[in-house]
Amino acid sequence: MIKFALRCAEGHIFESWFQSGSAFESLQARGLVTCPDCGSARVDKALMAPVVAKTAPATPPAPEKERPEPSADLADKLRRLRAEVEARSDYVGERFATEARAMYLGDIPDRPIYGEARADEAKALIEDGVPVMPLPFIPSRKSN
Ligand SMILES: [Zn+2]
Repeated sequence: MIKFALRCAEGHIFESWFQSGSAFESLQARGLVTCPDCGSARVDKALMAPVVAKTAPATPPAPEKERPEPSADLADKLRRLRAEVEARSDYVGERFATEARAMYLGDIPDRPIYGEARADEAKALIEDGVPVMPLPFIPSRKSN
């Protein structure tokens, strides 16, 4: 036995059992498959559609170009801050942790520096009380 979902010419959907697919076709050809709602013999297998969720899909992330840019004001502030830091500070690159610690300990004179620190270096500096903070921009220079 096989159950088919059927649809009549009027659009009524119903289900019916048949011995086999060929049995259905045979009965259909002879007009013996009729709609229980309207009696129409113009019946065929209903097209089956995948079940679609009724809820609206989640809003997809906006394409890159449509994401809101940081406000021009903030971008401008960051640009000026970077220019200021770069103008007034020494870029020490990967020596940053060493230099910052040496200044903190008084081994070398204080001076404004900036540079790169590995995560473990930065963590160690902070744990030791060395006042360091991440700058909100990427250094424009990558080497001395
Ligand atoms: Zn019908």
